[in-house]
Amino acid sequence: MINEASSTINSAESDFIAKARLVGETVLAPHAQETDTGSAPRRENFRALAEAGLFGMAIPKAFGGLDVSPQAQRDVAELLASYCGVTTFTQAQHHGPSRMIANCPNSSLKEALLPKLATGEWITGVSFAHLRRPGAPILSAEPVKGGYLLQGTAPWVTGWGVMNQFVFGATLPDGRFVYLWSPANHADFPELFADTTPPSGDWGAMSVSPPIPLCGMNASATVILTFENWFIPQEHWMLESDRETMRRNDRSNVLGATAMPLGCSAGSVRVLCDTAEKRGMPAIRRAANSFTREWEALKSEVLEWLNRQEDPNFTVEALRIRAWCLDLGVRAAHAAITANSGSANMLTHPAQRLLREALFYTIQAQTQEVMDATLARLER
Ligand SMILES: Cc1cc2nc3c(=O)[nH]c(=O)nc-3n(C[C@H](O)[C@H](O)[C@H](O)COP(=O)(O)OP(=O)(O)OC[C@H]3O[C@@H](n4cnc5c(N)ncnc54)[C@H](O)[C@@H]3O)c2cc1C
Repeated sequence: MINEASSTINSAESDFIAKARLVGETVLAPHAQETDTGSAPRRENFRALAEAGLFGMAIPKAFGGLDVSPQAQRDVAELLASYCGVTTFTQAQHHGPSRMIANCPNSSLKEALLPKLATGEWITGVSFAHLRRPGAPILSAEPVKGGYLLQGTAPWVTGWGVMNQFVFGATLPDGRFVYLWSPANHADFPELFADTTPPSGDWGAMSVSPPIPLCGMNASATVILTFENWFIPQEHWMLESDRETMRRNDRSNVLGATAMPLGCSAGSVRVLCDTAEKRGMPAIRRAANSFTREWEALKSEVLEWLNRQEDPNFTVEALRIRAWCLDLGVRAAHAAITANSGSANMLTHPAQRLLREALFYTIQAQTQEVMDATLARLER
């Protein structure tokens, strides 16, 4: 069996990770198939994550969070993903914007939002992947008196109905990017709009598509939002950036998106080990041992290169390792399916779920460089 824990975390973080493991084992795992085939994220899973303090893991202690190290956050994402992909992916959308709010210069927004985001009473989503697309922007922010008008489409917004607020990345008229906070429903945040009147007398229109039917992560309540003159007050501005900064951040974060695919393959290896135990076939035991060794080798490369950002070979190596994580996710799930024969194709079986989750991780946070590295590895 795989030992997922990293060695660089302190004892308070070990306790926190142990709590996350307990939630994974006792709440997420027993319902993983049912959660995967549900029509929306499973509320009980979110409640258990909130009770364990997980929504505050990226939030500073001054605002009620736990502010655990990036490595401990990775370990939590990895182990939760080994138990239930859709819950892990959906909750993961909360941490990036929480961190952005905590690091942005808008102190009144921080004070108003972070304490409740830390407890999980409020959960936030994010929409910015569209900024990577070439060509004309599909979501723009038009500066107007007192704020911005959001126009266009946010094509992938996960967690609709669970998240009550979002951070939107949109393109300004000069091509730079602006990140703005907005609620799903203004009535839920009266104190944040008490002193604001939209210039044209209304907030504009935001339309919500039905959840996008998906092969992997179908229960993530991922929707398309379309905006027409959606007014966001200047008070809810967070930061500005540009394409070059996004490209640089994408490069330095290439290994950031490896925790969930690594967790997914750990889940598949677990299925393989259990199956080897039940069926007693040497071929399954051999495969379980081989995938365990490959997983451990890959994890140690991830950990090594996370600490070698300054190395001139970092980008090439990080892309190679990311592609390996994505490839291993699919192969390990495929092996788990092979070992479980016909029953693996039933929606009640974890192996087919893990394969669909691995498919999703292949395109999550994909940049052109990640696509290139993944295809190059698959061409073998
Ligand atoms: C289930 C799911 C949930 C997601 N949730 C979120 C979320 O909550 N927040 C978030 O920010 N992102 C989210 N994403 C986005 C995810 O990170 C992107 O799928 C990924 O970054 C791929 O980008 P894309 O949207 O441009 O790809 P696609 O949706 O495949 O791109 C759509 C279109 O964009 C154009 N395009 C894109 N790239 C190019 C190119 N290189 N050259 C020419 N045309 C191009 C093409 O017209 C293409 O058909 C989610 C994705 C999925 C599948």
